[in-house]
Amino acid sequence: MKFYSTKNNSKLVDLKTAVLEGMPKDSGLYMPTEIPLISTKELEDVSKISFQELSLFIAFKFFKDDLSKALIEKLVHESITFDAPLVNIYDNVYALELFHGPTLAFKDFAARFMARLMSSFVKEDKKKLKVIVATSGDTGSAVANSFYSIDNIEVIILYPSGKISKIQEQQIATLDKNIKALEVNGTFDDCQKLVKTALADKELNKKIDLSSANSINIARLLPQTFYYFRAWSQLDKKRRDNLVISVPSGNFGNLCAGLIAKKMGLPIKKFIASTNINDVIPQYLTTGAYTAKASKQTISNAMDVGDPSNFVRIKELYGNIFDDIKKDIVGFSFTDDQTRANIKDTYKRYSYILDPHGSVGMLGLKKYIRQNEDISAGIFFETAHPAKFMDIVEKEIGQKVLIPERLAAFMDKEKRSIKINNDYKELIEQLI
Ligand SMILES: *Cc1c(COP(=O)(O)O)cnc(C)c1O
Repeated sequence: MKFYSTKNNSKLVDLKTAVLEGMPKDSGLYMPTEIPLISTKELEDVSKISFQELSLFIAFKFFKDDLSKALIEKLVHESITFDAPLVNIYDNVYALELFHGPTLAFKDFAARFMARLMSSFVKEDKKKLKVIVATSGDTGSAVANSFYSIDNIEVIILYPSGKISKIQEQQIATLDKNIKALEVNGTFDDCQKLVKTALADKELNKKIDLSSANSINIARLLPQTFYYFRAWSQLDKKRRDNLVISVPSGNFGNLCAGLIAKKMGLPIKKFIASTNINDVIPQYLTTGAYTAKASKQTISNAMDVGDPSNFVRIKELYGNIFDDIKKDIVGFSFTDDQTRANIKDTYKRYSYILDPHGSVGMLGLKKYIRQNEDISAGIFFETAHPAKFMDIVEKEIGQKVLIPERLAAFMDKEKRSIKINNDYKELIEQLI
């Protein structure tokens, strides 16, 4: 499979280049030149196998020309080690729980896959790679844990001191071995700027091989298709005909993977782009005009994005035809008050504990169902475990949220971050 840049579709690169480069030099995004298809018969077959076997089947479709069978098997077996269960909430409404990985958010699936793929490429070239990433919380924990103990790669994570939650900091800053956590005396934007400066620094890049674990990497996008198939395969046959899926969205990587799954042949009737008040995409879907805005802070903070990076990929998938995009995606946005009220109401009625992101997803699905009656099933994605946002959730449900063992394990560990000032020279000292 070859990849092109959304800014130049004539220059093609292979998987290895696309993954190690992350973003094309022209600042577009890499897209596959073709989307593999899955037949109705194959779909029938995948509904009878485990999530890992299913993931392997889809991974072969994407990677069989570029990677050996043994390597694809290794990547899937080592990264897809937990399930994505479908839970019936009421009637034909379901939650797909994507938080059963080590850092309790859906980013675990693809970050683990990407880490192992990068490691195998680097090993081939007998290189040592340094991966640098800035985080406002969630990405950092998924990346740190996905790369932990991975050969040939050192990860340097920059986070703003005192500005991420205790749980997030424990997941980022307590790891040893190949993970270095830099606690920056500054804001998230300062961290991001330091990272961008390093990635663009020609002198530095002559001395070390530097890459980024950014969410726009194609190796993080494609594995996210696996759990769309898993969602479908767990549904009762009679519920599959008119399926809609609501995706709580920020940078729209997750939803973009769903659109790719649909193009492969997965029968999803409609996608719901559910957002908090950062509503650039719902606005676009209503008016046809895309207006990036500064992001606003909300309680579903992993979705506080004012200029979603995967929007260009979505347009690309539909050849830029607005009417076709509108046929497949509808967008709704919700306030924090609505998000909180839905957490409370859902717990009261169905004893199900939502996190703020899943709550936004469920609100989008409920709104769609109110406006359209002809669906066989509606699935919303639960993208994070409620324990990650317990301060918000416990207030609404009036109960303690049980902290899963794997999260509790992080809480006892000793913090080992390195403090630096918002100063590029201090970053360089840590990189070389
Ligand atoms: C990152 C994240 C999202 C948003 O996903 P995108 O792919 O950026 O749209 C939603 N929920 C949680 C918990 C996240 O961490």
